[in-house]
Amino acid sequence: MAENNTIFGMILRGEIPSTRVWEDEHCIAFRDINAAAPTHVLVIPRDHIPTLNDITEDQKPLIGHLVWVAAQVARQEGIADDGYRLVVNCNDRGGQTVYHLHMHVLGGRDLSWPPG
Ligand code: AMP
Repeated sequence: MAENNTIFGMILRGEIPSTRVWEDEHCIAFRDINAAAPTHVLVIPRDHIPTLNDITEDQKPLIGHLVWVAAQVARQEGIADDGYRLVVNCNDRGGQTVYHLHMHVLGGRDLSWPPG
């Protein structure tokens, strides 16, 4: 496993604080520090996977789990029925700034399409 010197690695190790809304053996979810919507939660695996491009075949069940957790978080946040969005940014042009795979759960307002 690659060394995890990202800010999310620090959050996973408890070196910097976060507001966790979900935690299990495979992943955690916490509130984005710079919320882009009334609900903005990040779901991240405990394993350090830098980007979407780095997912290995044996990690496919883990990715399914992350999507399932995102849906549970949406329900927990009360935005499941109104609707919400899952976003994964990949690399520079995709707008990724933290190189630890994460899924944005965004909701609580109308979300425009296409995204910027
Ligand atoms: P991305 O641009 O897709 O890589 O998303 C990274 C996200 O991490 C951004 O929405 C940031 O606001 C968020 N973020 C950065 N540092 C922290 C932190 N310490 N706690 C919570 N969210 C953070």
